[in-house]
Amino acid sequence: MPANVVVRDLSKRYGGIEAVRGVSFAIEAGEIFGLLGPNGAGKTTTLECLIGLRQPDGGEMEICGLDARRHPRDVKQKIGVALQTTSLQDKITPREALRMFGSFYHEHEAPPVLLERFSLGEKADAPFDTLSGGQRQRLALALAFVNRPSVVFLDEPTSGLDPFSRRELHRQILQMKQDGYTVLLTTHQLEEAGQLCDRIAIIDGGRIVATGAPRDLIAQSSGAPSVTLITKPALPADILAPLPGVRELQCDNGTARFRTDDAAATLAALTVVLRERRVELVELQVRKASLEDVFFRLTRADESGEAASP
Ligand code: ATP
Repeated sequence: MPANVVVRDLSKRYGGIEAVRGVSFAIEAGEIFGLLGPNGAGKTTTLECLIGLRQPDGGEMEICGLDARRHPRDVKQKIGVALQTTSLQDKITPREALRMFGSFYHEHEAPPVLLERFSLGEKADAPFDTLSGGQRQRLALALAFVNRPSVVFLDEPTSGLDPFSRRELHRQILQMKQDGYTVLLTTHQLEEAGQLCDRIAIIDGGRIVATGAPRDLIAQSSGAPSVTLITKPALPADILAPLPGVRELQCDNGTARFRTDDAAATLAALTVVLRERRVELVELQVRKASLEDVFFRLTRADESGEAASP
């Protein structure tokens, strides 16, 4: 399949801050591609360079075969964009906004089609300042489709939404794929990236640190399964540490957490210990390596999701 978006060695600095440092990736036609990274990683800056909102300092960008730096106007006809927050005039209605934005393009979709597709029929004539956060996000998506784009760029499309609105938006993004659109989205939500994206690029400190299908990145990761164990009474560290496969053991407040290189051997030995010591098993969870493990291994994100200072 031909690549719809090609980025080569993109760089962008703001004064002394190197926000994007030599980013390269390619997105095939019909793919949902995620740029995943902690706060301040350079996701939005990369996206803003691609859509012509920022002038990069270096690198090349091709969208639908067009050089995005030399032909930004032509590129704008081919792309749809939904930014993190969409501000419109307070009293404009979704129907009016869709009609007005459509008038900026040679080709445009009729408002009723988009109102229906993004479940905005009931709010078609309601002023913008009366729409909920989820309805505003759906309107932002509808506006991104007003020019019948080939490639859609979504900057953190579900940030700030409740779980229901987020699920609805996920459904709409997956529908975009079914309808054949190419989608680039940024997110720092790992679960979202895993569910929606065919491939992701993990970006950190302005550089891409891994690219691939979420499943492949997890498979390639050396992350061993993690185990959480609660017993009554608690088993001390000197009993758990020698069990086969156990490493990175932490015991606090009666809960033991560790990784295992051989889950079957660890669990078999643990069963013997529990029986011999007549200890009651309260909780035992074995979790395979996840996208979260890959993310934390490759990025400098701490537990709060903030990037560590360079
Ligand atoms: P987030 O997930 O928090 O939105 P991000 O990955 O999208 O983060 P960017 O917004 O691209 O990251 O920011 C990358 C770096 O560039 C950060 O250090 C940020 O502080 C800096 N930065 C972004 N915009 C500007 C600006 N207009 N002026 C100066 N520095 C900026």
